[in-house]
Parts: sequence; C-alpha cells; structure tokens
Amino acid sequence: MIPGEFEYHRPASLADAVKLLADFGDEARPLAGGHSLIPMMKLRFATPEHLVDLSAIDSLKGICRDGDALVIGAMTTQSDIIASADIASHLPLLRETALLIADPQVRYMGTLGGNVANGDPGNDMPAVMMALGASYRLEGPDGARDVPASEFYQGAYFTALEPGEILSAVSIPLPAQGHGYAYEKLKRKVGDYATAAAAVTLTMAGGKVATCSIALTNLSETPLLAEDAAAAVVGTSLDDQAIAAAVEAARAIMNPAADARGTSEYRTHVGGIMVARALKRAAARAAS
Ligand SMILES: Cc1cc2nc3c(=O)[nH]c(=O)nc-3n(C[C@H](O)[C@H](O)[C@H](O)COP(=O)(O)OP(=O)(O)OC[C@H]3O[C@@H](n4cnc5c(N)ncnc54)[C@H](O)[C@@H]3O)c2cc1C
Repeated sequence: MIPGEFEYHRPASLADAVKLLADFGDEARPLAGGHSLIPMMKLRFATPEHLVDLSAIDSLKGICRDGDALVIGAMTTQSDIIASADIASHLPLLRETALLIADPQVRYMGTLGGNVANGDPGNDMPAVMMALGASYRLEGPDGARDVPASEFYQGAYFTALEPGEILSAVSIPLPAQGHGYAYEKLKRKVGDYATAAAAVTLTMAGGKVATCSIALTNLSETPLLAEDAAAAVVGTSLDDQAIAAAVEAARAIMNPAADARGTSEYRTHVGGIMVARALKRAAARAAS
C-alpha cells in the first residue's frame, strides 16, 4: 500500500524540530529510521500530515561517557551500537540485543530512539533499558525532563511522551565490572520479532547472586520489569529451586496476546523458559 499524503520537514536543530512538532500538534510525527513508522503509514495505521525527519540533527547522534553513565543519542542506529567499542566493553547486553534485532538492513536504518519511543511491545530495546536502569531525556516546548525507562511505557503504543516532545537521548548507568548479562529471545525465524524474550543483568559474590534485574519483551502490552522474579534469586546460588521461583514469579505478571506467534498460554510458557535460560547464561558470565 501507498501512504497517505504528508508534508516532509527536515529541521537542522533539535529546537526547530520541537517547534515544528509543537506547531503541528497531533498532525505531526517525528521520523527516525522509518522502519516502524513507514510500514505503519503504508498500512494506514498511522496517517500523519507532517513528518519531521530527525536525521539532519547532529546533536542526536553518537555515544559518549557522562560520569558513570553512557549517553546514547536517539538517532544512533542499531548498527552504530554494534560497532561501538564503548558499548562492547561497558554494555555488552546492548550489543547482544542489537544483534538480535531484525537483519543488517533494518539495523543500518533503525535507531535506538525510534526503537524505545515506538511503544511497540515487540521492540527488543525497551525491556533491556528497564533491566539496565536507563532513563530517557525528553525535550519539548517547555524544556527537558528525564523519565526512567521503567515509568515510560503505559500501554501498547502509549508512552510518557507528550505532544511536541522528542526523545533526544538514552542514559544508561554503567553496570558493575564483572556483571553477568543475557538477552534470550525466542523467535520463529531470523529477523522476526520475539515470541517471548527476557533480559537479565546480575552480579555474583561468593557464589551467590548479589543483585539481579529481569525484564520481559512481548509478554504483555508493555515491556515488564519482573521485580519479584529478580528478588527470588537474590541471595541464592541460583540453584534449580531459585530459578523455578523466579520463573513462576515472572509468569505471574505475563499477559501476552494470542497471535500468529502462539496462544497466550504457549507464549507465557516459553517466556518462563527465556527467563530461566537468561538467568543461567548471565550467571555463567558473571565474575563471582
Ligand atoms: C522487517 C523488520 C523486522 C523488524 N524486527 C525487529 C525486531 O526483531 N526487534 C525490534 O526491536 N524491532 C524490529 N523492527 C523494528 C525496527 O527495529 C525499527 O527500526 C525500530 O523499532 C524503530 O526505529 P526507527 O528509527 O526505524 O523509528 P521510526 O520508524 O522512524 O519511528 C518509530 C516511532 O517512534 C517515533 N519516534 C522515532 N524517533 C523518535 C524520537 N527520537 N522521539 C520521539 N519519537 C520518536 C516515531 O514518530 C514513530 O512513531 C523490525 C522492522 C522491520 C522492518
């Protein structure tokens, strides 16, 4: 299908982009890599009258260190993330996840900002951001504010973004040296969205789990932070009993839709398996 008519804008600064979005209100949408928005427009699920292309705004691109955090500009592509030495050494979970998104063509165009701002429960990065304790910088006509990833997602395609706001950057606190991490994603084929996926970061001390964070992709209308599941393994040696308790607690908050990827029961079942696998792989990678 062909999208409806729209007017195309390509501002050179964030301030100009915010002004355009504020002026056109509900009729305007930011355009990043276009790999979620353009398909939606072709299906006429989205019919913006104004597209505000963010690709000429240099301040939205790049990865830099800010104290104990890495700050990633919204227009940084998944491909840039995979190529970054800083990400590989400090945030390997991000690189592992980016490599599981779609295929190289999509990753060359798709941006981190577009992936986390989209609000599609099938996007992989939002749960990873929750597990890492990331926050999003939102810039609008009234200034900037920071929103934790764990508070950003309100429903399928509903987020904390207010009309006129642009997500300009993602700030991720650097995990402890020697932390363990894993993103386990079940998909029907290479390039597919997750049937179910789980992100885990943890630290070990003296053979026991010292800290743990677990988040889930495509197992509800929004990404989920599985706090009870994480609490179930802290202080344990991650024995079978602790893993079973974490899986049970994680399944208790899952509520996936039945779709072409399976029934709700099936997806909840495999969601638990993703949690167990991610916990084991993260622990195997952690220094104890
Ligand atoms: C074949 C295919 C397979 C895919 N498989 C996966 C997959 O396995 N996992 C996965 O996670 N994704 C997958 N995707 C989606 C892909 O990762 C998208 O590129 C990504 O979700 C959106 O990023 P984008 O830069 O293309 O954003 P766009 O499509 O340009 O925008 C997406 C939405 O976010 C808004 N937006 C974009 N940037 C900003 C911003 N800075 N501030 C505020 N709002 C903004 C837009 O207005 C739009 O509503 C797939 C896409 C395709 C085409």
